Amino acid sequence: MVRFCAICGRREDEVGTLIENLCSDCYRELKLSFPIPRELRIEECEECGAVKKGGIWEKGENVILKVVEDTLRKSLKIPRNVSLKVEPTLNEDELTVKLMVSAEGRTVVNEKVIKLRKVKRLCQRCARIARGQYSAIVQVRGKEGELSAKEREVLSEAFEIFNKKFSVDRRGTQVVDVEDVRGGVDVKFLSHQAAKFFASILKDRFGVLTKESYKLIGVDRSSGKRTFRLTISARMPKYKKGDIVEIGSEHVYVIDVAKDVIKGVRLSDQREISLRVNDLEKQAAKVRVCKLRKARVISLRDQVIAELLDESRGKVIEIPLRQIPLDVKEGDEVDILEVEGKTYVVTGLIKP
Ligand SMILES: [Zn+2]
Ligand SMILES: [Zn+2]
Repeated sequence: MVRFCAICGRREDEVGTLIENLCSDCYRELKLSFPIPRELRIEECEECGAVKKGGIWEKGENVILKVVEDTLRKSLKIPRNVSLKVEPTLNEDELTVKLMVSAEGRTVVNEKVIKLRKVKRLCQRCARIARGQYSAIVQVRGKEGELSAKEREVLSEAFEIFNKKFSVDRRGTQVVDVEDVRGGVDVKFLSHQAAKFFASILKDRFGVLTKESYKLIGVDRSSGKRTFRLTISARMPKYKKGDIVEIGSEHVYVIDVAKDVIKGVRLSDQREISLRVNDLEKQAAKVRVCKLRKARVISLRDQVIAELLDESRGKVIEIPLRQIPLDVKEGDEVDILEVEGKTYVVTGLIKP
C-alpha cells in the first residue's frame, strides 16, 4: 500500500520512510521548529571568564556552551524529549545549536548557527577584588620578628594546599591580596570561610598558633544584617612536630603542639610527656632540628641492646632497648636521628 505524508501529501517512495505518518521534512517542521534567535548576548567576566546566567556568575569548563544551552531550553520551552546541544564552531563568535528528536527508531535533526555577542564585564567577585575589598585577613607572623626562610616555605606550602583543596574552579580565587608587613605577611580573603580554611591548614599541618577575632564593620543596607571582618592571627610556632627539644641532658621528640603545651616523647626511655611552653622558656630549652636517616633493625634478641645497620654510613649502631619504640621489629626499616652524638629511633612516634 502506498502511504502519503499526512501534511504535505508526498508519496513515501519519493520522500523516504514516514515517521508517525509524516515525511522527515514535515516531522522536523512540526517537532523541531523553535524560534531560535539569530543572536544571543552573554555577559562574560573579562578577568576570570565566568559567565552570567540569571543573576549568578558561573565558571567551569565549557561554561559558555552550558549557559547558552540552559538559556535556550528555558526561553524556548523545549520539551524533555527533544535533545538540545550547543557546539562550538570554527568561528569564535558563532555556535551551532542542534535539536534532535527520535521516533520509531529514527532521529531527526535540526541545526542552526547563531551569533554569540559577548559583553565583557567584571563578575561580582572580580569587581570586589578590583576594589580591594576583603572580609577576612590572616596575619601570619614569624616566631622571632620577621618570617624566616623556613617559615616562608611553610607559608607557600600552605598556599599550595589551599589552592588544591579549596574548590577554586567553582568559586575562583579567594585571595584578594598578600602583603609583606612588619613581622610577617598579611593575607586578605574574600570570604570568612576561605580565611578559616587557610588558617586551619597552617594550624593542622604546621602547628601554627591561630586566634580568631571579629570586628563589626557595618550594616548591610538592603538586608539589615551586620557585617563583620574576621581577623585571624597566625603565629609561627617556636616548637613544631619533629623538633628535638633539649632540656639539660634530656632530648624530647615533639609529637604534637597546642597553644601553650607541647607533647613529646622523651627519647632516653620512650615515655610520652607534656611540657608547658612557659616552663620550657624558663629552663632555657633549646630546639634542635634534626635530619632523619634510615636504618635497618638487625637484632632485638639481646635483652638490653638493639643492633641497627645504618646503611648510608655503612656501620652498625647499638642502641639501648628501652629507647626503641615498642612496635619496632627485627628487619624493620626505621627512621633514626642523631643529636649531640646520640642516635635515637623515632619511627611511628608522630601519629598521622
Ligand atoms: Zn511532508
Ligand atoms: Zn570574574
